[in-house]
Amino acid sequence: MSEMPCCPPVTALPACVDRDWAKHAVAILEGDGRRSADTHLVNPVFRGLKGISIYLKDESTHPTGSLKHRLARSLFLYGICNGWIRKGTTLVEASSGSTAVSEAYFAHLLELPFIAVMPKTTSRQKIEAIERFGGRCHFVDLPGEVYAVAAKLADEAGGHYLDQFTFAERATDWRGNNNVAESIFDQMKAEAHPEPAWVVMSAGTGGTSATLGRYIRYRNFSTRLCVVDVEHSAFYDAWKSGDREATCPRASRIEGVGRPRVEPSFMPGVIDHMIKIPDAASIAAMHVLSDRLFRRVGGSTGTNFFGLCWIASCLMKAGEQGSLVSLICDSGDRYTSTYYNEEWLKANGLDIAPYREMIETFLDTGTFRSDLMAE
Ligand SMILES: *Cc1c(COP(=O)(O)O)cnc(C)c1O
Repeated sequence: MSEMPCCPPVTALPACVDRDWAKHAVAILEGDGRRSADTHLVNPVFRGLKGISIYLKDESTHPTGSLKHRLARSLFLYGICNGWIRKGTTLVEASSGSTAVSEAYFAHLLELPFIAVMPKTTSRQKIEAIERFGGRCHFVDLPGEVYAVAAKLADEAGGHYLDQFTFAERATDWRGNNNVAESIFDQMKAEAHPEPAWVVMSAGTGGTSATLGRYIRYRNFSTRLCVVDVEHSAFYDAWKSGDREATCPRASRIEGVGRPRVEPSFMPGVIDHMIKIPDAASIAAMHVLSDRLFRRVGGSTGTNFFGLCWIASCLMKAGEQGSLVSLICDSGDRYTSTYYNEEWLKANGLDIAPYREMIETFLDTGTFRSDLMAE
């Protein structure tokens, strides 16, 4: 029999030092949210796509230029509310660029030191943006090295490893709270086909597809989710085989998407279909969409758009009608020296011309030359 514990003596309670900073920090993050309007759901018209309406959620208009603005805000709130991020905590992240740009911005708002661990191939524009917000960049040779190096740097500094690849799926409120899925379905309400037949998304952390897939199930929609993977990435194989240990030795050339390992935030169970496409197809689709929108979008938006065209062609072939939704993940301004540079494309052996023609023809006539598709 254990003894009854005795009551502690009555003393003065500890001062509430840390909570003052946390309250201040949460108020600052709330302010960023309030200053932001919701992002546009653009509805471009393509003559050849009879019966199919296309919608693109434009996440490039966030203050830090990409969909990672939402994720960074969520990761900061999650860290603060868990008591992991406190006054003066050094923050470290493993990133291919976009997330680090958004996190550097929030770290600046909260006056916290920030270190981004990135592959040395990260675009110059992203590095400049991180440094402008006062962040520090630490480069590694191989993309698979970012995780261990970030964890080690955080440990040495007595800081916090934000770890987007683990926490993206759980730091986001998947049931709502104006997450990207709730916002899309709300903006679709007055459309001819308010419930999209399919939502199409690429995967980096896998967090956005996890939120979309979970929200679709939670709200009982019939919408299906297609995830588009890129040439150098482990996600497609893992989804197909069920093996989460799948890896890919080469770094993805499409910034923001495609990973060397199956990230913990990737949730295969909520994905209805996956396709894997060549990088030349992603970049060709990026160019075509940029021409048609009269402004430049990024490479992963090309991945999304190619997948959207592929789904549209399948629906049209089956004689079905409906709406399709995808995301503009970031702007093409970040990639002037890569995807929009002829020399770079040539140096990387990327011939985008056949895919370009294929997509142009499809958008204008509705005919999709599927002989260029491997899978
Ligand atoms: C992160 C990212 C994606 C993928 O989003 P996830 O939610 O991480 O899967 C796509 N495009 C860009 C530019 C990104 O930075």
